[in-house]
Amino acid sequence: MASEPHHVVIVGAGFGGLATARVLGNSPVRVTLVDRRNYHLFQPLLYQVATAVLSPSDIAEPIRRILSRYKNITVLMGEVTGIATEQREIQFAGRVLRYDTLVLATGATHSYFGHSEWERFAPGLKTLEDARRIRANILLALERAELETDPEVRRRLMTFAVIGGGPTGVEMAGSIAGLTHEALEREFRNIDPRRARILLVEAGSRILPQFPEDLSAYAERALVRLGVEISVGAPVNDINADGIQVGETFIPCGTIVWGAGVRASPVGDWLSRETDRAGHVSVNPDLSVPGFENIYVIGDAALAKDDKGTPLPGLAQVAQQQGYYLGRALLRRITKGEEPPPFRFHSRGNLAVIGRNAAVVEWNDVKLRGFLAWLVWGIAHVYLLVGFQNRLIVTLRWLYAYLTYRPGTRIIPDDRGGEAMAKPNEPRGT
Ligand SMILES: Cc1cc2nc3c(=O)[nH]c(=O)nc-3n(C[C@H](O)[C@H](O)[C@H](O)COP(=O)(O)OP(=O)(O)OC[C@H]3O[C@@H](n4cnc5c(N)ncnc54)[C@H](O)[C@@H]3O)c2cc1C
Repeated sequence: MASEPHHVVIVGAGFGGLATARVLGNSPVRVTLVDRRNYHLFQPLLYQVATAVLSPSDIAEPIRRILSRYKNITVLMGEVTGIATEQREIQFAGRVLRYDTLVLATGATHSYFGHSEWERFAPGLKTLEDARRIRANILLALERAELETDPEVRRRLMTFAVIGGGPTGVEMAGSIAGLTHEALEREFRNIDPRRARILLVEAGSRILPQFPEDLSAYAERALVRLGVEISVGAPVNDINADGIQVGETFIPCGTIVWGAGVRASPVGDWLSRETDRAGHVSVNPDLSVPGFENIYVIGDAALAKDDKGTPLPGLAQVAQQQGYYLGRALLRRITKGEEPPPFRFHSRGNLAVIGRNAAVVEWNDVKLRGFLAWLVWGIAHVYLLVGFQNRLIVTLRWLYAYLTYRPGTRIIPDDRGGEAMAKPNEPRGT
């Protein structure tokens, strides 16, 4: 009797898990991919959903559709809640699933540095739901300001604070400035959206600290030109329904967006393995977990290091390269019994967009800024999107928004609209 094919279970259909699955597609191994959502999400463009440029469906693609041509891959929807390593089983959706090899690619979520109470007032940007929440908060703040007669309350409603000066914070601040200062300028009668105050707050000494200093300085100048105020060198000490405390100063705000910290998914707890402070599980050079020869962790959940011992950053390109590497390594190991070489990350550069026409790109010794960098950023992101349809729609929407200054998806969902307007003092983000 023929023996059962080797069963690889992949948890998470983000950049890492999907890449692993694709390499294993139509191979002699049996693959089951489990995700709590039924779609793959292109997180790098979430901020464009949050600022009404793109629709949620433009950056999400059903996992089943992406993998439909691979007959050896089964896709199951359910949230993994634990792993019985002795029994080689994962627990999800009230059932168990046995694996021979397990790949954990469950990504990361926000970290509020021990202040989970801030999340109500300052949602982070990780999921489609987050992006829709932030979009509704921004649009509602403007609608409330249009109704408001008290100038102080109106000023508060028209103040938008973004916390964290990394790429996500910079993208959000630039994009909110584009929306309020350019796109909506003629649409309100009682307020002037061009007078919206947009703050970017970074605790460190400069924004975009992962870029060289000259590119950071360029990004700062480009944001200031867009009308963004930048505060560096003082952390946010408190966040409440009325605003943020930065150092000694309280700033009343109508909308707050959190872009400051991430925490890896609870893979360390599932495997009873120690993690770093952000919850990442240390992995061997072949991405396996020390002590488990058949369990691998990749992407944002893993602490993998380069040749110099520097931790690899939480980037889509890292997760994707790890996924492709692991797919090939597993095939070699399972079908040929060969030991694969260690994983090596090849950087394709650091990119961050600041606004229409402005971005920064660093790749080895090449540094780009301004329109050319923006073009490179746009092409790279369209290319990385999964699915021809998404690529086409995103390109057309960008073209439309670029030529007309009109972002296309400014709908406040009914469940957030009328009711929220009737309760102007409700905390944001709920
Ligand atoms: C706003 C934003 C902007 C970004 N911009 C860029 C950028 O410009 N360039 C770049 O390179 N990177 C960017 N990143 C980072 C990049 O998106 C991540 O590094 C990448 O998504 C990590 O891939 P991953 O496969 O590890 O996890 P993810 O892509 O996060 O995928 C994890 C998957 O696991 C699933 N999952 C999680 N927990 C469970 C569970 N318990 N059970 C079942 N399924 C589960 C999730 O549903 C998800 O599908 C950005 C991230 C964000 C949030």
